[in-house]
Amino acid sequence: MDFELDDDQVAYIETARQFAAKALAPHAAEWDAEAVFPKDVLREAGGLGFMALYTPESVGGMGLSRLDASLIFEELAGGCTSTAAFMTIHNMALWMIASFGDEALREQFCPTLISGEKLASYCLTEPGAGSDAASLRTTARIDGDAYVLNGQKAFISGAGDTDVLVVMARVADGKGPRPGAKGISSFVVPADADGISYGRKEAKMGWNSQPTRAITFEDVRIPAGQRLGAEGEGFRIAMKGLDGGRINIATTAVGTAQAALDASARYVHERQQFGGPISQFQSVQFKLADMTTDLVAARQMVRMAASRLDAQHPEATVYCAMAKRFATDVAFEVCNEAVQLHGGYGYIREYPLERHLRDVRVHQILEGTNEIMRVIISRRVLMEGATEVIR
Ligand SMILES: Cc1cc2nc3c(=O)[nH]c(=O)nc-3n(C[C@H](O)[C@H](O)[C@H](O)COP(=O)(O)OP(=O)(O)OC[C@H]3O[C@@H](n4cnc5c(N)ncnc54)[C@H](O)[C@@H]3O)c2cc1C
Repeated sequence: MDFELDDDQVAYIETARQFAAKALAPHAAEWDAEAVFPKDVLREAGGLGFMALYTPESVGGMGLSRLDASLIFEELAGGCTSTAAFMTIHNMALWMIASFGDEALREQFCPTLISGEKLASYCLTEPGAGSDAASLRTTARIDGDAYVLNGQKAFISGAGDTDVLVVMARVADGKGPRPGAKGISSFVVPADADGISYGRKEAKMGWNSQPTRAITFEDVRIPAGQRLGAEGEGFRIAMKGLDGGRINIATTAVGTAQAALDASARYVHERQQFGGPISQFQSVQFKLADMTTDLVAARQMVRMAASRLDAQHPEATVYCAMAKRFATDVAFEVCNEAVQLHGGYGYIREYPLERHLRDVRVHQILEGTNEIMRVIISRRVLMEGATEVIR
C-alpha cells in the first residue's frame, strides 16, 4: 500500500494550486457578493484541461483517473468552492456524453465542451422528484425518428447560462410513459432549443458564482440520435455519472475545509488575547488537532473511493457514498470550527470563513443528500456477509 503521490500527481496539484491562487482566489469574494458566473475563467480552465479531466483522451479529454481528477478539484476548491464545483458538474455531464454518446454526438458536442468554450448542465432533479429521482415525470414522447420533451427540472446548476443540457426523461409511447427507473433515458439537448424556458435565478445561501434555475420543456423536439446509450439505460447512466460526481463533491468540500484550516492555523498565532496569541489555549490547540485529524481522514477516504472507482471495484458505489457522506460532514464541521476560531472576524465578509461555511453546506445536500448516502450504504451493509467485504 502506497500513500505517497507520484511525480505526475504532484505536478497536477501544483498546476491546479497556481491556477486557484491566480485565477480563482482573488475574485471569489466578489463573485460571491455579486453573483458573477466567471465564464471567461472557465474558458481559461478549459485551456489547462480542467473542464475535461476524466473525459477519455480518444475524445480529446485529459483521460485522467478519478483519483488524479480529485487531487486537482481539491486544489481548485481551495480557490473558489462554487466555481470549482461547477467545473465538476460540467466534467460529469461531458463525461456522460463522451462515454455514452455515439460518434456523431461526441463529434457534435464534445470539442467545445472540452475547451470550456461551451458549458454543460446535468438535469435530473424535478420539483416533485429529488431524493426519489427515479420518480421523475419529464417525458420524452417517441415521434418518428425524434423525441418530444415535456416537463420541468428544478435546481439545475448553470441553467440559463450553459449551452448543453444532459436531460433524464421518461420515454413515452402509444401506451403512455414507461414506468420505473427502466423507463428513463438520457438525452443531449442544446440549451437554446425551441420550447425551453428558464426560471428566475435562485437566490442562494452559497454557490453564488454559478446560477441555479428551473427549466421547463414544452414540446422540445430532439433527434433520436441525441439519446445517450440504449433506451431505458438513462437512469443507470445518470447514476454512473453521480458515482464520480460524489467523489467530486466530496473532494471540493475537502479543498474548501483545507483553506479554512490553513487560515485558522495562521490566525491563532496572530490573534492576541489575554496577553498572548490565542494559540496558547489548549482548547484552541485541541480544536486545530481535531480539525486536522478529521480532514486527513476525510481526504484519505475520498482518495480510496476514487481509486475503487478507477479499479471498477464491485463495491465502488458504496465507497463513493461513504466518502461523500463522511467528507462533506467533516468539511462542514471544519469550516464551522474555523469560523469559531476567528471569533467575530469569522462572521464578517472581510474574511473568507463565512463564505467557506455557506458554500460547503450544500455539499451535504446535493448529488444525493447525506441521508440518501446512508440509505445506499445501509442497504448494502444489511446484506449477508457485506461487512466482510466493505472495510
Ligand atoms: C444549489 C443546488 C444545486 C443543484 N444542482 C443540481 C443539478 O445541477 N442537477 C440536478 O439534477 N440537481 C441539482 N440539485 C438538486 C439536488 O440534487 C437535490 O436538491 C437533492 O437531491 C435533494 O432533493 P430535494 O431537494 O428534492 O430534497 P428531498 O428529496 O425532498 O429531501 C428532503 C429531506 O428528506 C430527506 N429524505 C428524503 N428521502 C429520504 C429517505 N428515503 N430516507 C431518509 N431521508 C430522506 C432528505 O435527506 C432531506 O433531508 C441542486 C440543488 C441545489 C440546492
